[in-house]
This record gives sequence, C-alpha cells and structure tokens, in this order.
Amino acid sequence: MSEAPSSPYLIAPEEPLDLSQLPTSPPDGALTGKAAKEELKSVVKEIDELQRILYAHDHHSVLLVFQAMDAAGKDGTIRAVMSGINPAGCQVHSFKQPSKEELEHDFLWRTTKRLPERGRIGIFNRSYYEEVLVVRVHPEYLEGQNLPHVDGNTIWDERFESIRDLERHLSRNGTKILKFWLNVSLEEQRQRFLARLNEPEKNWKFSRGDLAERALWPHYMDAYASMLSETSRPWAPWYAVPADDKPFMRLQVATIVRDALRGLDLQYPKADPEDLEHFGRIRRQLEGEAD
Ligand code: ATP
Ligand code: MG
Repeated sequence: MSEAPSSPYLIAPEEPLDLSQLPTSPPDGALTGKAAKEELKSVVKEIDELQRILYAHDHHSVLLVFQAMDAAGKDGTIRAVMSGINPAGCQVHSFKQPSKEELEHDFLWRTTKRLPERGRIGIFNRSYYEEVLVVRVHPEYLEGQNLPHVDGNTIWDERFESIRDLERHLSRNGTKILKFWLNVSLEEQRQRFLARLNEPEKNWKFSRGDLAERALWPHYMDAYASMLSETSRPWAPWYAVPADDKPFMRLQVATIVRDALRGLDLQYPKADPEDLEHFGRIRRQLEGEAD
C-alpha cells in the first residue's frame, strides 16, 4: 500500500488546484443516507479493533487533522468516527483563537503539546493550519503575534515550509498523519446557518462572526487552495471530502482512517521464549492450586 490511503478525494502534492472543480456532494450511486450509516458502523468497529492493536504494538500514533468552513460538520464527523473507539485510545483537541500564553510561543507550540502518544489516535479540531487560513485572510492578526519580522511576500511560504518539516519529522518518528478538509458548498452553508437560526436547539451554534467569515468565502477558498497543494504530501496527505451530505462524508473519513490503520501492518507484540517458559511455570502453578 502507498503511504497515503487511496481515495478519489486525495489531493495530489503541488498540483495547482481549482477548488471550484472539487465536488461538494457525493457522486451518483454512492452510499448515502441509511446505507452509509450502516456501513459506517462496521468501519468504525474495525477502527476500534485496529486501535487496540495500535495500542498494544506501541510504535505508531495516528494524528487526524480537521479543517473546514463553519457548519461543514467537523464536530459531528469527529463524533461519528470516535463513537465506537475506546475513549482511552482516542483524544480530541479543539484549537480556537490563541490565548495570551500561546501567543508568547511560536505557532506550532500549542499543537505540539497535544500530539498523540504512541498507541493513540489524536484528533485536532482545527490546528496549526489556522495560521495559513484565518490568519492569511485576516493578516492583521499577525500584529498580535509579536513576531520579530513579518514580510508579507514570504511569510505564508515560510509557514508552509515549517509545517511540511514538522509533519515529515513526525511521520519519520511514527506518527501517521491524515488531514481532512470538509468541503461544504456556499449554498449548503447557507441552509445550515438558516437551520441554526430557525431551530431553537441549534441557536447556540450560530455566532455573529460566522456571517462575516462567510462574506470572505473567496479569500478562504484561495487560502485553502494554496494550503492543500503546498502541504499535501504522501506522508501527510490532505483529503478534500465532499461535505454537503453528512452520512456520505463521515463514511469517507472513517474509511480513509481504517485503511491507514490497516496499512500500518500492526501486530500484537509476541512474548519472547524466556517469557513463554515462565508463563508455562505460572500456568502449572495456577492449575495446581485447584487440587
Ligand atoms: P463551530 O464549528 O461549532 O462553530 P468552531 O471550531 O468554529 O466551532 P468557534 O469558537 O466558533 O469554534 O471558533 C473558533 C475560531 O477560532 C475560528 O473562527 C477559528 O478560525 C479561530 N482560530 C483558531 N485558530 C486560530 C489562530 N491560530 N489564530 C486566529 N484565530 C484562530
Ligand atoms: Mg464557529
């Protein structure tokens, strides 16, 4: 198996991208609705089984990164993928506006502290990629970052380089990285915002700032396009998953995670011969106790 699990939504490295050409809805004939939900259950079950071996094997960790426009369904997708996994084996971290303490450090510091240990699956709900997305769309945020020097012509390429270097390093040291951009359409976002406004139990999900960011949609798409092509690599691939149909999207994400775990060739550790001899003695002793 190649390093990146295959999928129609895998972003090829360094290819110029026209995001308007990437699908936001499932292809004809795809599993959606109930059928997708059923299939998701069995994929998640396998992820759980593989995670147990990942833990016992204790050589790899898995990092899942989620980025998306508002209302694309990050939270629900993360919940769906995690739902069947042993909670001890999987941790989610959400990254919002950086705190004062976080701004006292380089932009990779806060996420680095949250990277998964060997044997675990770590999920980033937003990540250091915000530094080339929201910050790129709002370059005035850079003023709050106390950087010694900012050159608007080079800063984004420098950040891409830092991110690529970090991910290459993590990959060499046992972290399997998979990155998901949940690709929702402008129209579907409109519908979901309306639902958040119209349904009282969804009101809490809506914040006024969401509309301001929606107005900047084309700027975000430019930032996403360059992020995807600059940082999708075989050892840390991006998948642009169509997000207008939630069951379909969740199934795509879970399948890619499952395939990546399969590809790690995980095994339960084998006891060495000395241990086995010891086990034999203990077994005889325990069996003897029954007499
Ligand atoms: P929901 O999808 O449920 O609204 P959320 O992830 O959007 O959840 P919010 O509290 O609404 O959570 O938003 C978090 C905000 O923090 C986002 O607008 C995001 O762009 C912003 N953010 C995250 N990282 C950074 C960063 N490094 N610099 C500036 N803003 C950031
Ligand atoms: Mg939000």
